[in-house]
Amino acid sequence: MTETFDAIILGAGGAGLMCAAIAGQRGRRVLVIDHANAPGKKILISGGGRCNFTNLGTAPDRYISMNPHFVKSALGRYGAQDFLALVERYGIAWHEKTLGQLFCDGSARQIVDMLLSECDRGEVELRVAAPISDVAHGDGQYRVTHGGRVAQAPALVIATGGPSIPKMGASGFAYDLARQFGLKVVEPRPALVPLTLSGEEALFRDLAGVSAPVVARCGKASFAEAALFTHRGLSGPAILQVSSYWYPGQPIGIDFLPRAPEDWLIAAKRERPRATVQQLLAAQLPDRLAGALAERLALTGGLADQKDRALVEAGQRLSDWRFVPNGSEGFAKAEVTVGGIDTAGLSSKTMEARKVPGLYAIGEAVDVTGWLGGYNFQWAWASGWAAGQAL
Ligand SMILES: Cc1cc2nc3c(=O)[nH]c(=O)nc-3n(C[C@H](O)[C@H](O)[C@H](O)COP(=O)(O)OP(=O)(O)OC[C@H]3O[C@@H](n4cnc5c(N)ncnc54)[C@H](O)[C@@H]3O)c2cc1C
Repeated sequence: MTETFDAIILGAGGAGLMCAAIAGQRGRRVLVIDHANAPGKKILISGGGRCNFTNLGTAPDRYISMNPHFVKSALGRYGAQDFLALVERYGIAWHEKTLGQLFCDGSARQIVDMLLSECDRGEVELRVAAPISDVAHGDGQYRVTHGGRVAQAPALVIATGGPSIPKMGASGFAYDLARQFGLKVVEPRPALVPLTLSGEEALFRDLAGVSAPVVARCGKASFAEAALFTHRGLSGPAILQVSSYWYPGQPIGIDFLPRAPEDWLIAAKRERPRATVQQLLAAQLPDRLAGALAERLALTGGLADQKDRALVEAGQRLSDWRFVPNGSEGFAKAEVTVGGIDTAGLSSKTMEARKVPGLYAIGEAVDVTGWLGGYNFQWAWASGWAAGQAL
């Protein structure tokens, strides 16, 4: 027997649940299907269990997409303050951590429960642990075979996310489905992901566990946050941020002393001629990092023994230390995916496919990737809201 709905949403993550709640509350009969055994699993593990659910600084320039304008409409109509108002309506306590990042005081579970309550208000039917074996389209209806049942609706929403963290149920299903309906997919890459260093840079791998506030750069992108050395390479917020802009072969530049004036070593030579570079660095950076950098700079003796030119060069190197990562830790460790369903085929107002009436794509499945800091959930809410209004 085929069950009939007004809309079927594939994926019960942040985007799918928001979309379902909005459409359901607008009177649509909505079915949500997910192959995982529970909804919102990524929300539960996000933000260290406290869910960094939005960012007060949300703006289009904090998103990566082949079309940087695509996000404007949805974010303009459903912004950080709108989601915050919902959170407050549910009495969920929250705090701003840093850089506009809003977290639950308690647990990410509160966000999932809130979304599920919103779905209940819209009488949304949710089916989890329901593997999807077939999606077909004909006579104006999308037919989804899942767990031995068949449901049909004139509207289908792809909200199955990207392939980051497969052990949480993530898959490339959205891309396969998009291609099945003739939509293009921008090559997906792991993003917000630790980068790995080769043997040549092993000196830095010995610093595993050391972190420092830096400015990390990749191409034109630059982020002033902490970098962390790991036993495989580089991580920490600054590195995760630049990883989203990184292509294999490109160097990452790190400014270890972003507040130091350009000629600070020359000035130090005059003030403390007998001090060593390592001593100066150790006054500003963790000891082990200062030692590793000084060893690489190889300026033996005191500052008075160094030529000014050598000190200028050392200063320049410290402000733009080049690493050429040999890879990243991949989708297994990536928080998100850059790339996805090409926005050129979608309406930025409704998220509906331009050439496939009734087919929608939202959330991380789409070629829109936010910076670290709550931007990705804000995109999930905003794109889900936009489609939910249109269904
Ligand atoms: C460890 C971690 C921490 C994060 N922390 C934050 C944070 O604090 N703030 C922030 O903004 N972002 C964070 N993110 C990113 C954020 O989780 C995602 O951007 C967001 O979850 C995307 O929402 P979505 O609904 O599009 O996709 P998802 O949340 O991935 O949901 C997709 C759903 O589709 C289901 N699905 C997948 N394939 C199939 C299939 N074949 N059949 C049926 N169902 C399927 C999945 O089970 C899942 O429930 C974090 C990500 C990770 C991995």
